[in-house]
Amino acid sequence: MHPLAKLDHAHIWHPFTQMQDWVTREPIIIASAKGAMLRDVHGREYFDGNSSIWTNLHGHNHPAINAAINRQLRQVAHTSALGLANEPASILASRLVQSVNAPNAKPWLGKVFFSDDGSTAIEVALKLSYEFTRRTRPEKPRFLAVDGAYHGDTIGAVSLGQIGIFHSAYKGLLFKSDKVPAPYCYRCPFNKAAPERRDAREYRMCGFECASRFERKVESAKRAGRPYTGFVFEPVMQGAAGMIAQPKGWLSRVTAAARAHGAQLLADEVMTGFSRTGPLLACHKEQVAPDFVALAKGLTGGYLPMAATLTSQEVFNAFLGKYEEFKTFFHGHSYTGNQLGSAAALASLDLLKASGASMKRQRLTDSLAAELATLWRLENVGDIRQEGLIAGIEIVRDWRTKAPFDLRERAGIRVCEALAKRGVLTRPIGNVIVVMPPYCATPQQLRHYMAALGESIEQTLALKPLRLKR
Ligand code: PMP
Repeated sequence: MHPLAKLDHAHIWHPFTQMQDWVTREPIIIASAKGAMLRDVHGREYFDGNSSIWTNLHGHNHPAINAAINRQLRQVAHTSALGLANEPASILASRLVQSVNAPNAKPWLGKVFFSDDGSTAIEVALKLSYEFTRRTRPEKPRFLAVDGAYHGDTIGAVSLGQIGIFHSAYKGLLFKSDKVPAPYCYRCPFNKAAPERRDAREYRMCGFECASRFERKVESAKRAGRPYTGFVFEPVMQGAAGMIAQPKGWLSRVTAAARAHGAQLLADEVMTGFSRTGPLLACHKEQVAPDFVALAKGLTGGYLPMAATLTSQEVFNAFLGKYEEFKTFFHGHSYTGNQLGSAAALASLDLLKASGASMKRQRLTDSLAAELATLWRLENVGDIRQEGLIAGIEIVRDWRTKAPFDLRERAGIRVCEALAKRGVLTRPIGNVIVVMPPYCATPQQLRHYMAALGESIEQTLALKPLRLKR
């Protein structure tokens, strides 16, 4: 066992990990990385198949981001945003406002509250929306979320989440939020499924029962005098729910209904932001202008933990008053507006917007689509969902019946273990294999990824299923 593995086993408690399993084997210990490749302490190389849990944008060890951090390091690494301003955070806030708002967006998101990660960005949006509602409206704050939603692990974010296995343990700590069905076409809750190979025309034929239900729910809440005051959503693609791609038109329709019936729109762009689905924000795909946008993960190009919550002047105004009125937003973190993170984020935004960068991402998206299509031939591939450079492959016992693997069979985990042996790292969500390459990936790397994934699925799932006690 490598000495670092011994230290890890002795002391580190890993996130979302059954530690009893973890300590039975030597983990992959990352020593360095360059571009889309990670290298471990034994010199083995791996393709970073999920962009280091959805964070990295332009590749590791990027010269421009390294240089920006080094430049900032020679000035100052960190000073507090409590009582002080600083240069890179001020410039970053203004760049974010320019980037996040579509021209003439209403509401215009001109205010930026910095924090540390996706959960805190959502927590800030939630607290602001809650308090804004209390101060400006007669109704009690009430939140609506989408089935399967994941918004982070702090208690407010968990309260908005809708994944039983993650959230049920903390029920006693959570406030109540309501949910609407996700537009999960492959397993359509209304049995009006569009075919696996998605085509916009087919969705119109399904009648958008999911969107109609949504409309009825927000309407009846309003009629009953208990309107939803906030609707929180992951636009275009729900991540931890299992990469559920929303059919075209769903998002604009449900957000219009939510707003018409009194809800503020809280867009969680923690995964989808910074061009993962194409445009800078996934909301831009459907011309949705939310009241809050939560950004994290890719904000610093995947270099440093930093997050931002953007909101409007209207929300900001509800917190203005004389000092002694105590209308201040009483919330903040030690590293809010950190200079190193801001410098990395500015360099990352420059790379995102560099001339030709968006075309290059589009070409990579097309290559990914072509490579993903090669997996349809597999008996165990039920559905393939892609939005830009995010994809989820749902593995099933048999594509004809769509019968799922029992989670206890660890089918997704076993496929990813086989994939790691072939030099690609990713992490499944239950029975969904996540494919999210950094933007610097090459078509050849994607070809290798999909070939290795195809082999891993065939090799792993052709084995006899485990016998489970009922
Ligand atoms: N929102 C979404 C949509 C996410 O995917 C995640 C993390 N996977 C979070 C919030 C929480 O982010 P973090 O892990 O940085 O707290």
